Amino acid sequence: MTEYRITHKNGDQYPVRNIYCVGRNYAGHARELENPLLKEPVFFQKGLTCLTTEDRIKLPSDRTIHHEIELVILISRPGEGITADNAMDHIGGFALGLDLTDRKLQNELKEGKLPWFLSKSFKNSAVVSTFFQPDMGNWSEMFWLKINGNVVQKGQMDDMEFDIPFLIEFLSSRIPLLEGDIVFTGTPEGVGTVEKGDVLELGLGESVLKTVRFR
Ligand code: MG
Repeated sequence: MTEYRITHKNGDQYPVRNIYCVGRNYAGHARELENPLLKEPVFFQKGLTCLTTEDRIKLPSDRTIHHEIELVILISRPGEGITADNAMDHIGGFALGLDLTDRKLQNELKEGKLPWFLSKSFKNSAVVSTFFQPDMGNWSEMFWLKINGNVVQKGQMDDMEFDIPFLIEFLSSRIPLLEGDIVFTGTPEGVGTVEKGDVLELGLGESVLKTVRFR
């Protein structure tokens, strides 16, 4: 069986179990998609086989694929009913990732009041960088996405509607978290289409954490 793994900067490798994602966690992005903000965080999942750490990624043909850059959390210690105060004890890494989305299909499914699963789950739709130590200081810097050299999205942890400790408290109050689960924590405004041939750089502060070429 194929294992889907992410790599930690310290050399550890984690088999990933589940990919959770948060929707509408930045006010600017909720506005651009004309979605109301929510009183509680909304979660969805991507299929495990969507995960990729590759630098050259094949996009599905004939679809409108949007980029969503996000901070991604690695759960390194399982738990349920985790409190916000203890959340950082369960987080072993932070990364940047892309929650690639088939926006046209998502809009059709939303209009039909149907689950958006297939618009979020297609091969290579969950892109992640290497995972780094979860230092809240370093990671409060601006993160950004460049396409072909131009910044198209930027955001900061401080702009989240629901912060990371609260997201972990909320999610683990509903379902047990496993070691190797990863959580995409929502995207700031500026989502848009990606095309074959585009080069995407995912950065934090002055550093590029991942470069991806689409084909
Ligand atoms: Mg997203």
